[in-house]
Amino acid sequence: MADYDLIVIGGGGAGLAAAAAAAEGGCTVLVVEAEERIGGSTALSDGVFNAAGTSVQRSLGLEDSTEAYFDYYMTLNAWRQPAGLIRSFCENATSTLEWLMSLGVEIPARLVHKVKGVVYPCSAATPGLYAAGVEWPPRGHIPVGGGAAYTDVLYQYAGSKGVEFAFNTRVQALLSEGGAVTGIEVEGQPIRSHAVALAAGGIAHDKDLLARWFPDALAGYEDDYVPATISAAGSRGDGLRLAEAVGGLIEGVNCGLLGSMAYFPRTEVKGFPGYQPTSLIYVNQTGRRFADETAPYAVMPGLIKAQGGLVWGIFDEAARLRSDPTLSGYAQGWSPDFVLAAVAAGDIRSAPTLAGLAEATGMDPAVLEGAVAHYNEDLGTGVDRYYLRSLDGLYPIASGPFYAFQYRLCNVGLTGAGVRIDAQGRALDPALNPIPGLYAAGESGAGVLGERYVGGGNAVANALTMGRVVGQTVAATVREHEVEAA
Ligand SMILES: Cc1cc2nc3c(=O)[nH]c(=O)nc-3n(C[C@H](O)[C@H](O)[C@H](O)COP(=O)(O)OP(=O)(O)OC[C@H]3O[C@@H](n4cnc5c(N)ncnc54)[C@H](O)[C@@H]3O)c2cc1C
Repeated sequence: MADYDLIVIGGGGAGLAAAAAAAEGGCTVLVVEAEERIGGSTALSDGVFNAAGTSVQRSLGLEDSTEAYFDYYMTLNAWRQPAGLIRSFCENATSTLEWLMSLGVEIPARLVHKVKGVVYPCSAATPGLYAAGVEWPPRGHIPVGGGAAYTDVLYQYAGSKGVEFAFNTRVQALLSEGGAVTGIEVEGQPIRSHAVALAAGGIAHDKDLLARWFPDALAGYEDDYVPATISAAGSRGDGLRLAEAVGGLIEGVNCGLLGSMAYFPRTEVKGFPGYQPTSLIYVNQTGRRFADETAPYAVMPGLIKAQGGLVWGIFDEAARLRSDPTLSGYAQGWSPDFVLAAVAAGDIRSAPTLAGLAEATGMDPAVLEGAVAHYNEDLGTGVDRYYLRSLDGLYPIASGPFYAFQYRLCNVGLTGAGVRIDAQGRALDPALNPIPGLYAAGESGAGVLGERYVGGGNAVANALTMGRVVGQTVAATVREHEVEAA
């Protein structure tokens, strides 16, 4: 005898969407959340949601389609993701976004990004629509209030549909009978259900799981290195472990987003030091440029990985002194004192000449000098001859001393290793058969998030969309069983 139709493990974006959709379909639902409140990483996020063919795009006169999104998604991921699942994701993302807006999430119909211009990460302070990756037309929908807007709206809605919540309760075992998942065990007590949805987020806080499933996050670092992560505390890999224990197919090596950042392991950072100077170039270990330095964070990690995982940012004394705290965001630059503190700590190398800087960093002096010379010459013509970076507002790298800092893959943004799901959100076994009673969504489910993050909004869209799909699938399955039993 089941206590609930559906038990959802995790009250983040995927879990709340699953719970709300299942309850909307007539199911009884319990959400079990390890922390003291709902939200997870979803509530911390900027809330960018990737979707195509939406009413927001149409209001702006932008023509788009889920077919175009599917093609873009599969091409960017070199067709490594399962097409059936990605088709479902791309199609359901649109209806999920419209559903969320109908429940009260507000996404203003305005472009909040320079059209086809320099790409900077967005901020939730600017709700609207922006090109979140390398796509066109823009697909990154930013809600008023960031990611918490979704979780707040869904929590209210789920509550109004009778969904029950248990907080401070970390699920550590599933009930399994005859190959089917039949509920959960909490503190030795069974709670039975027709279906269980794994929506417990990712693995960012578990170094052992990262070593197995996200080796890029640890590659090239010392043994005692612990990668920084922005993920919520609940991202401990429980979804992956629970699925593995009942024979789920675990996939998703290096999937998710490993963010590139200036790497300052030794510098004491008091508060936010500002952003790195814009008048810089990135070069690889030989001293050669390899990309447009303003490439979106969707593609930059792959470009850095292709250079061996470590590149250098090169700037000059004028850039250090140009920092202006009265400017906002990227225009501000690191404070001059911060740069000197990082030099003293050994995180930024410095030398009076470029040849000296090359020696201090192990680069080829002629290659580094050539890279800087080309950059300076290109400022004169206005065209970045090799990588087509927009050079507007940039200054030459010409006055010593010169500086180099490591720009590395050093922040686990989100992970995509978990139990492989199908187009309906059902968890699969190694023979690609659904495990009866088990579903997964968000970072706990593998297949949607690939090695190539398609752009800001990929992960929130995945969590909310596949969560809702799970809720709908469970509701339809429970109805079928009721009809059969009648
Ligand atoms: C600061 C930040 C900004 C981001 N910005 C964006 C963005 O703008 N766009 C985008 O697409 N992505 C963004 N991301 C990533 C995105 O937010 C996440 O990938 C996505 O929201 C994950 O949703 P989820 O439901 O899978 O996990 P979560 O939202 O993390 O929810 C998982 C929940 O499960 C709970 N849980 C874990 N284990 C258990 C257990 N054993 N028992 C019970 N409960 C458990 C956790 O406590 C948590 O509440 C951002 C992430 C962060 C942290």
